[in-house]
Amino acid sequence: RAYSSGSKKVTLIPGDGIGPEISAAVQKIFAAASVPIEWEAVDVTPVRGPDGKFGIPQAAIDSVNTNKIGLKGPLMTPVGKGHRSLNLALRKEFNLYANVRPCRSLEGYKTLYDDVDVVTIRENTEGEYSGIEHEIVDGVVQSIKLITEEASKRVAEYAFQYAKNNNRKRRMSDGLFLRCFEERYLDTVCLNMVQNPGKYDVLVMPNLYGDILSDMCAGLVGGLGLTPSGNMGLNGALFESVHGTAPDIAGKDLANPTALLLSAVMMLRHMELNSYADKIERAAFETIKESKYLTGDLGGRAKCSEFTNEICAKL
Ligand code: ATP
Ligand code: MG
Repeated sequence: RAYSSGSKKVTLIPGDGIGPEISAAVQKIFAAASVPIEWEAVDVTPVRGPDGKFGIPQAAIDSVNTNKIGLKGPLMTPVGKGHRSLNLALRKEFNLYANVRPCRSLEGYKTLYDDVDVVTIRENTEGEYSGIEHEIVDGVVQSIKLITEEASKRVAEYAFQYAKNNNRKRRMSDGLFLRCFEERYLDTVCLNMVQNPGKYDVLVMPNLYGDILSDMCAGLVGGLGLTPSGNMGLNGALFESVHGTAPDIAGKDLANPTALLLSAVMMLRHMELNSYADKIERAAFETIKESKYLTGDLGGRAKCSEFTNEICAKL
């Protein structure tokens, strides 16, 4: 796809808690880099439909379906009121079948390892999250783990294509599709990952394993405030930070916008706007490496706006 003519519209779901602040930071940085996109901000707070049920507003659904690409901040899921997670609703609505999370060690932010560079690709629609559960008799609950060939194939194909497009270590061509996969058990992967993270490159796995392992990998490089993610769908993609709404620091200009910014960078690569992606990523990594303007979660004292302004200055 070519986006050379004019600017492309991108749906923006600012989200709750720190969402609006970090979304504004990303917009400011994109403007400083003159990225040729136009943001279309939408609200996804559930509204009551004609059938009396709460759901995502039609305008938000239409926006994502039309633009086919979006960036999303964290969303709050009200607890204990019978609400279904809004994240899950979005995943269902847009058929977001693969969750991609690159985890790379950052220079200037010291963690246990400094050579982590792995990508987890999680099947996002079935497995333990199919929602098929029932109580057989009092006190005995059965939950079905559903795995289909269709969903497994499409996520495996996505992983293969991702590895190819992103020049991951192994050399591959289509004829080598199967030979490019090595099968490993989850327990072995966990053990090896914490002993020597450099051992792995691209990992593709079913839903629950992906949920756990992707958080573990994020932990290896400094936590959820730094790691981006993308949700690939059948006819569109939604990029998001994986951390929560951080209600404890919301509205105080203290949040770290890096995870959302790197998700936006991933989005630019998906749109084949690589030169903008590289430029923004370099400015962000440089700012973190210099550690003059780090936010509190990274041990610094800078405000979200100061960190953001420094990236803009570099751009
Ligand atoms: P939610 O209910 O939305 O999941 P939560 O209470 O679980 O929210 P998280 O957002 O998961 O909170 O955050 C856990 C901790 O990490 C909080 O102390 C929060 O302030 C911090 N945190 C999360 N994201 C960021 C960020 N982007 N920048 C700085 N701190 C963050
Ligand atoms: Mg949480």
